[in-house]
Amino acid sequence: MDRTFLIKPVLDAEYPLIDYGKGVYLYDAEGKEYLDASSGAITANIGHGVQEIIDAMEEQAKKVSFVYRSQFTSEPAEKLARKIANLSIANLNWCFFVNSGSEATETAMKIAIQYWQEKGVYTKTKVLSRWMSYHGITLGALSMSGHTGRRARFIPLLEDFPVIQPPYCYRCPYNKEAPDCGYLCAHELEAIIKRIGADHIAAFIAEPVIGAAGGAITPPKEYYKVIKEICERHNILFIADEVMTGFGRTGTMLACEQWDVEPDIVTLGKGMGAGYTPIAAALVGDHVMEPILNGSKTIMGGHTLSANPQACAVSLAVIEYLEKNKIIPEVEEKGNYLKNKLMYLQKVYPFIGDVRGRGLMIGLEFVQDPIKKEPFPRRMKLTETLISVAQENGILVYPAGAGTDGINGDAVMIAPPLTITVKEMDDLIGRLERTFQQYY
Ligand code: PLP
Repeated sequence: MDRTFLIKPVLDAEYPLIDYGKGVYLYDAEGKEYLDASSGAITANIGHGVQEIIDAMEEQAKKVSFVYRSQFTSEPAEKLARKIANLSIANLNWCFFVNSGSEATETAMKIAIQYWQEKGVYTKTKVLSRWMSYHGITLGALSMSGHTGRRARFIPLLEDFPVIQPPYCYRCPYNKEAPDCGYLCAHELEAIIKRIGADHIAAFIAEPVIGAAGGAITPPKEYYKVIKEICERHNILFIADEVMTGFGRTGTMLACEQWDVEPDIVTLGKGMGAGYTPIAAALVGDHVMEPILNGSKTIMGGHTLSANPQACAVSLAVIEYLEKNKIIPEVEEKGNYLKNKLMYLQKVYPFIGDVRGRGLMIGLEFVQDPIKKEPFPRRMKLTETLISVAQENGILVYPAGAGTDGINGDAVMIAPPLTITVKEMDDLIGRLERTFQQYY
């Protein structure tokens, strides 16, 4: 290995050196073109090199890039909080800015615990979650994450929070189909609450559509209504982790709008800065803030760069770009176009077991036998090699799947920038098919 100073995800792997990006394409230093069909890590929601964002960065940098949030507020932070509150579900009017999705979910966890403390309840400290989930890499966020691979090394440091199975209809643990299943996987939550005792549980957290750990696993229509009703009945807050799904990725500003459910706290990240800046947020309901406003009047959380004016100005520019170009209203149609093409590929390539997802967050699960849904053996998971074969073919796809109960989690996500055109989607399919041909 050459002596190197940058710690890369795989230390001895070769990574192409990226030169620049334009729209849905990235170009490396050797001039090779990549279609960014994963928006990086489902982040570059408006594509690369957007001039309006670059202009907004410059404009804010000329004014001020940093002020400390306990000394000053700033116009971009105030405007962004108001904007996000107006764009999201009615009751979510309070915005706490952080710098990454992990910080957002960990902040949400802490606000949930603080909420109960401010009401005089000190025993409600657990945050329940699902297996096959990912809420971040910091210890609190990882504790809530049901991603076996990412947890493994730190198990002694983690609270064992994931408790229920995911709404994984493709491999339903009950061998049933929605809606006749009666949403047994959601009702598992009630049994667990009774076992642990609601007195010990502050909140339940879930990704509306499961991303990194599952590959766009999409629950049936009534699922979150059942979850929310159980949470409400047992005095448990519901946190929707929309770090990946938020900002239009699934066709609405927040994915949970599509399940008609109102979370008490929502986390945002990734698409919020669209890759132009690190920024994330916990959005908090009026009713959750109320005891805090009447009590300590301060949220115990935050980071040096929280509510950073430079980052907030960029995020505002991203939202303005989304609005001006009416991007979110087109996501559903674009997603359907892409999904139909992928379903066609599924007929040709039998190792594509499942095509799922909402909007432009689409998952493909690979199997050895599509009828029996038999997964490839662990060491032969298609995802292991497919990502790099795809990259050689000039297309970037996102590996997903944490595995559960003996299933390896062999899936990828196709989640291009929301700005992708029909012509570019055809190009995406062509590059993907060339990749699949190498496996057939
Ligand atoms: N929550 C969800 C749903 C995510 O998908 C991720 C990252 O993939 C996170 C939280 C953590 O975000 P970050 O990597 O920005 O810390």
